[in-house]
Amino acid sequence: MQGLYLHIPFCEKKCVYCDFYSIESTDLMEGFVGRLCTELSLRATTEKPCTSIFFGGGTPSLLSPTQLERILDRVHAGYSIAPDAECTMECNPGTVTLENLKAYRSMGINRLSFGVQSFVAEELSFLARIHSADDADKAMELARAAGFDNVNMDLMFALPPQTLASLGYSIDRMLALGPDHISAYSLIFEPGTPLYAQWKKGHVHPHAEDLDAEMYAYVMDRLGAAGYEQYEVSNFARNGRTCLHNLTYWHADPYIAVGPSAHGLLDNTRYWNHRSLAAWGAKIDAGVLPQANTEVLDRHAQLVEYAFLHMRADGLPVQAAQQRFGIDLRRALQPQLQHWIDAGMVRDTGNTLRLTRDGYTVCDDITVALLDALDRASASATT
Ligand code: SF4
Repeated sequence: MQGLYLHIPFCEKKCVYCDFYSIESTDLMEGFVGRLCTELSLRATTEKPCTSIFFGGGTPSLLSPTQLERILDRVHAGYSIAPDAECTMECNPGTVTLENLKAYRSMGINRLSFGVQSFVAEELSFLARIHSADDADKAMELARAAGFDNVNMDLMFALPPQTLASLGYSIDRMLALGPDHISAYSLIFEPGTPLYAQWKKGHVHPHAEDLDAEMYAYVMDRLGAAGYEQYEVSNFARNGRTCLHNLTYWHADPYIAVGPSAHGLLDNTRYWNHRSLAAWGAKIDAGVLPQANTEVLDRHAQLVEYAFLHMRADGLPVQAAQQRFGIDLRRALQPQLQHWIDAGMVRDTGNTLRLTRDGYTVCDDITVALLDALDRASASATT
């Protein structure tokens, strides 16, 4: 698999918790679209087909159909796109219209991802979201009317004003809309955000860790009972509607990325673009790749990334790892692996070592132990 990610760095208003790169002024959007097309040409390659395209941000649903068409024309001119490629657009429920959604659909966008987060007015206002709970209902109605049969909704938990009861209310409202996929994330107080500053001033307080964990367990149980299969720490799909683009990341497969702050991975080399529209645009205007830096992953770094990402997602493929890295993971991970299996946290399916529901609750601890074991295995292989 190979993905293509396009970062659209504009939002109507910044949410207090968000550390993604985006700016509030949409006046610069037209010039941005032209430069994004230039970056697509600079990075163009038809060597491998792209199995997914993902418009993220920012708020890609601020793009007019004409702007989207320009970008997609450039994508099709410079890249080989698999005929059944998944093509996702992230949307803010406060910025969609039936007309635009129909136009996006007709241009080949076949998956939408709505940043819903909550259905409780006080919580949406706390997060400084621009939409209401009713806007989320409406957005889903419009998406279905425009012909989208693959829709994700994002849900947040561990919000300071949230209780288990209010989280339950949001889940009820979300499930009633029948999204095909749900991404459920715990609120993180990211340094540099207004939320982080409020916390440091003592104006707001994160939930205690045990309530955070209780909410996560509650989310897993409610979504599982509603028929959503968990296939990554934070991601749930029904009827097999997993997100191919995210699976590309989690399987450590290559992805091309364009736009300010975008991160790509090609030929075992990671690159990241300048995180400023001005610095990114200046490089493009000079006709050079707008990346701030690159990092070549050595064999051990590739193994670590491969193991860590697969383990947090749909399982560590033991035979594929043996073929690719020449490592027997069942052996390298002992004695921890047997302990995890006995404790019901990891299941050995024969092909994969996969986290169970209880394993996902201690995913960070398992990841740390996994990485330690791989470090030891690599060290003993070189001595
Ligand atoms: S809409 Fe999304 S990208 Fe924009 S500020 Fe809010 S969370 Fe960040």
